[in-house]
Amino acid sequence: MGDRNGRRISELVKKSGNNQCADCGYDNPEWASFNIGVFVCTTCATWHRSLGTHVSKVKSLKLDRWDDEQVEGMELIGNVKAKEKYEAHRPACYRVPRHGDPQVLLEQWIRAKYEREEFIHVDKQTYVRNHIEGILMKKTSNDNKYYPRKFEIADSVLKYYGHNSKEPKASIPIANVNVCLAPIKMKHDTGMQLTYLSDGSTRHIYVYHESGETIIHWYNAIRNIKLNLLMVAYPSVSAEEVIPYLTNDFAAEGWLSKTGPREGDAYRKRWFTLDDRKLMYHDSPLDAYPKGEIFLGHKDNNYSVKEGVPRGHKEQDFPFSLYTPTRNFVLSAPTSEDRIRWVAAVEAVLERPLRPQDNQMAVNLVRKRPGKFSLDIFSIG
Ligand SMILES: [Zn+2]
Repeated sequence: MGDRNGRRISELVKKSGNNQCADCGYDNPEWASFNIGVFVCTTCATWHRSLGTHVSKVKSLKLDRWDDEQVEGMELIGNVKAKEKYEAHRPACYRVPRHGDPQVLLEQWIRAKYEREEFIHVDKQTYVRNHIEGILMKKTSNDNKYYPRKFEIADSVLKYYGHNSKEPKASIPIANVNVCLAPIKMKHDTGMQLTYLSDGSTRHIYVYHESGETIIHWYNAIRNIKLNLLMVAYPSVSAEEVIPYLTNDFAAEGWLSKTGPREGDAYRKRWFTLDDRKLMYHDSPLDAYPKGEIFLGHKDNNYSVKEGVPRGHKEQDFPFSLYTPTRNFVLSAPTSEDRIRWVAAVEAVLERPLRPQDNQMAVNLVRKRPGKFSLDIFSIG
C-alpha cells in the first residue's frame, strides 16, 4: 500500500505545475501541504510548518507515508488549481517572491496566501490604498540608533516626521523612491532601505518593524503607488510590462577598494551599491548619503569594465577597471569570486538599452552637492 501511494505521489509531482514550488517557483518540490493541496520546496515547507497544522499540514514526498485519501486530495487539487483559489485576487503590485529572495518576503507571501487569505478577500489588502500611515523604526542619519517615527503616504508623497513634530522632516514623491529589503546589511530580518533623489543626490533611509507583515505592507504600498503613477504616465502599457520596474533589488553590493584618479593614488575601502544604472560608494554600509555616484551608460557610448588596471596604476588584490567617457575608476575586490560577480553585474548594466527614465536620472544626478560629492556624468540625452 505505502509503496503504491509513494509511487503515485512521486508521479504526481512531475506533472506540469506541480513540478515547481507553488510558492517560490523552485524546481522539483520535495514536500507537500496535503490539506491545501500544493507541492512546495524545502524552504517554503518550513514556512508552511510555522503556520501550524490548522492552516497547513506538511509531509515529505519521499520520507513520509501517504494514505489513499491524502494522495487523492493532491490529485484533485495540485499547484495549478490551488493558485486559482489562493491567488485569485492578488493585486498586480504585490511582489511575488522567487527562490533566494529575502526570507521576510517569502514568509509574508505564504502567510498572506494561506493564513490571512489576502488574495481571496480583497478587503484585507490594506496596502492597496492611497493613504497609509504608521510607525516604523528609523535609523538616525549620523549613528546606528533606531527610533520610532511616523511615516505617511498621501497624494503619492511619502512623508516622515520627527519626534513630536507636526511638520514632516521630508516629503518625497513616491515616483523618486526605490525600496528594497536589506536584512543582511541591516542585521535585522525586516530591514528595509528607501532610496531617493534629493537635490540631485541620493539619500538612503533605513527602517524596520518588529512585524514582518507591517514591513511588507509598506513595501507593497509603495509598489502600488508606483504602479498607479506609471499606468497614468504610460496609458498604453500593460501592468505586466511595468511590474519589473516598480522596485529594484540592488544588482550587487559589498566592500571594494577604490583608488583616486591619479596613478599612484592609494586604495581606500568603500561600500559599493549597484542600483539599476547607478553605482554608488559609501564610507560604510548604512550611510545616509553616498560619497560618490557613477552613472552607468550604454557600452556603445564608451562605457566598459575589464579585469586588471590601466598601465601605470598600482595593483591590489583582485583589481578591475570601469571606463567611462569622462573618467576611469580603478577598483579592487577582496576575492576572485567577488571580482567575477562585480564585473558580470556591471557588464549586464552596460549591455542593457537605456530607457527614457535613465536619461532623467542622468540629468538629475548632474545637480551635485558641492564639496561632499564626486560625480561622473555623461550626457546621453
Ligand atoms: Zn518554495
